[in-house]
Amino acid sequence: LLQIYRPLNMIGFVYRELRQALTDIEEMFKLLDRDPEIVDKPDAKPLQVTGPVIRFENVSFHYDPERPILKGVSFEVPAGETVAIVGPTGAGKSTISRLLFRFYDVTSGRITIDGQDLRDVTQESLRSAIGMVPQDTVLFNDTIGYNIEYGRPGASHEEVRAAARMAQVGPFIETLPHGYETQVGERGLKLSGGEKQRVAIARTILKAPPILILDEATSALDTKTERDIQSALDEVSRNRTSVVIAHRLSTVVNADQILVLRDGVVAERGSHAELLAQDGLYAQMWNRQREATEAEEALARTQNDP
Ligand code: ADP
Repeated sequence: LLQIYRPLNMIGFVYRELRQALTDIEEMFKLLDRDPEIVDKPDAKPLQVTGPVIRFENVSFHYDPERPILKGVSFEVPAGETVAIVGPTGAGKSTISRLLFRFYDVTSGRITIDGQDLRDVTQESLRSAIGMVPQDTVLFNDTIGYNIEYGRPGASHEEVRAAARMAQVGPFIETLPHGYETQVGERGLKLSGGEKQRVAIARTILKAPPILILDEATSALDTKTERDIQSALDEVSRNRTSVVIAHRLSTVVNADQILVLRDGVVAERGSHAELLAQDGLYAQMWNRQREATEAEEALARTQNDP
């Protein structure tokens, strides 16, 4: 019997390893929605981070020459500040985050970090300076602790727990029967979108990068989850130069500057209060979203109180 069992067991092992590898590759490809032709220059130097200050100077970009996506976009993110980018779906918001990660090169203009053109520095040094919290995090088929520790391999258990607490996911993990040893992913516990995003935030808190890109989840979240994620985001973006791709306007109220992207150009820019006073596109989007939230709350009240 042992003779049959061993090979079967081996197949199980190989299968599990393969699944893990496939999930890792899947995650990589998801993240790497990128141009394979991006290579380091022969004399590329490591990025020297001092501020860091991010500048987009007259940046134009297309995936397909027939269809320009960004047309002369300029903005600056001063050191330690947060710039939020809002605008209709398809406006090019996520494209801005991909260009900053140098998944693609700009068609014209330039992007600099502390004065260094992204095309002149090594990709490795650029990516190690940036923490990216993607919209949809794919977790590794491993423990939840491993998934957080991945932000800085070798971090101590105490550091992992501290990051989880800051990301508002610690108390949730501690209620699980196996705590940080709980298996997650395909073969383990399925986490909700909001929980996965907080795991990604904990990972990024642990990585402690000087620059942060947050691509907010588009999916609707309940008010408590939204509040928890908001406070996790505030924690991770504090004192970091941050670019937030915002799909819900509630997250941008406290940004130092908001850019409204429309048809490939920055249509409006300013703080929340300034943009409301301008009474333009942002004010319209804000009022529309507020009405929708109020309608939802009214509906919830009638359901709770028939
Ligand atoms: P947003 O984040 O504002 O919704 P995106 O930056 O994701 O917008 O996309 C801007 C436009 O570029 C969309 O019309 C989208 O279809 C197109 N686009 C995005 N990624 C690619 C790609 N890899 N190849 C071709 N077109 C793309």
